[in-house]
Amino acid sequence: MQAFRYTQAKTVDVALDPGQRFLAGGTTLVDLMKLNVETPHSVVDINLLPLDRVEPTPDGGLKVGALVRNSDLANHADVKARYTVLSEALLSGASPQLRNMATTGGNLLQRTRCYYYRDINYACNKREPGSGCPAQDGFNRIHAVLGGSDQCVATHPSDMAVAMMALEAVVHAKGAKGERQIALENFYLTPGTTPDKENVLEPDELITYVTLPRLAAGTRSHYLKLRDRAQYEFALASAAVVVQVEGSRIRRVRIALGGVGTKPWRSKEAEAVLEGKPAHTKNFEAAAAAAMRGAKPLKYNGFKIELAKQAIVRTLSMVTA
Ligand SMILES: Cc1cc2nc3c(=O)[nH]c(=O)nc-3n(C[C@H](O)[C@H](O)[C@H](O)COP(=O)(O)OP(=O)(O)OC[C@H]3O[C@@H](n4cnc5c(N)ncnc54)[C@H](O)[C@@H]3O)c2cc1C
Repeated sequence: MQAFRYTQAKTVDVALDPGQRFLAGGTTLVDLMKLNVETPHSVVDINLLPLDRVEPTPDGGLKVGALVRNSDLANHADVKARYTVLSEALLSGASPQLRNMATTGGNLLQRTRCYYYRDINYACNKREPGSGCPAQDGFNRIHAVLGGSDQCVATHPSDMAVAMMALEAVVHAKGAKGERQIALENFYLTPGTTPDKENVLEPDELITYVTLPRLAAGTRSHYLKLRDRAQYEFALASAAVVVQVEGSRIRRVRIALGGVGTKPWRSKEAEAVLEGKPAHTKNFEAAAAAAMRGAKPLKYNGFKIELAKQAIVRTLSMVTA
């Protein structure tokens, strides 16, 4: 690991220079520093900032501080009762010890688990633009079938972000140019020709909190994660569904996928198939087909297309039963 300077931020008006990184739970950053994938000359610890609370918003939603730990958010009474999909997604991630450290802001900004990105002996366009992408023709079983480019096919690994995508969360950030709000749907970028740029956050911007909108009465939600082993494993495919059913018809639905996209993947195609239709298996299957219509399999990850379809159908069946 390269030597670095360590400081603690005392206010949210902290300004970052290039080559500096914020440190929250450290469960992504410190790993990557040990691997020499991240080599900041200076690390600014943000753990003293007053961003560790979950509070109701005036419009009946929830405001989640960037430093709220994943385990605290998952077990928050309001999250469990009203934002079930979020609690389930958080509890499906990592291990209890990691969840006790990992924060809301850090989880959104965690980096891909692509083997080539995490090993500096390989080229990687995300790590070093223009160097190449060995995953294209290499071992790409865990890689993306949606949103990839010839420059990068790495998946975004977060479970929490998938649930937040289906909940239409909003990210609040503060930087040198002031404060702003970014709908999570517009937060992440697909790799295109600049896989090193994963989201719209400026390097100096601090995520201060995330807001979740109020859900209409009767809304139900569920997160289903499919993976190689039942615990302590990243998703091969996952589905987050937030749905409002009236009578036997789907009035409103939001669907997001994990493990298959280069970013937490909202499927408006699947939503469009379902809205106004009866909550019926045949319609769930049509929605799943629509979600995966643009999928592009690589040599070893074609199975993810069927897996993601099954995840969508199963989650919709469970949440509308
Ligand atoms: C063994 C292992 C298994 C895991 N399994 C899963 C899993 O199954 N599912 C899953 O979703 N995740 C999993 N994770 C990832 C884990 O959830 C993330 O490492 C964690 O959420 C990151 O949060 P953190 O607070 O530790 O981030 P940090 O490591 O502190 O920071 C991560 C990045 O975000 C930046 N950052 C942090 N906070 C802010 C902020 N407020 N504003 C701006 N920038 C910020 C940092 O500078 C850094 O670049 C796993 C991790 C490990 C090590």
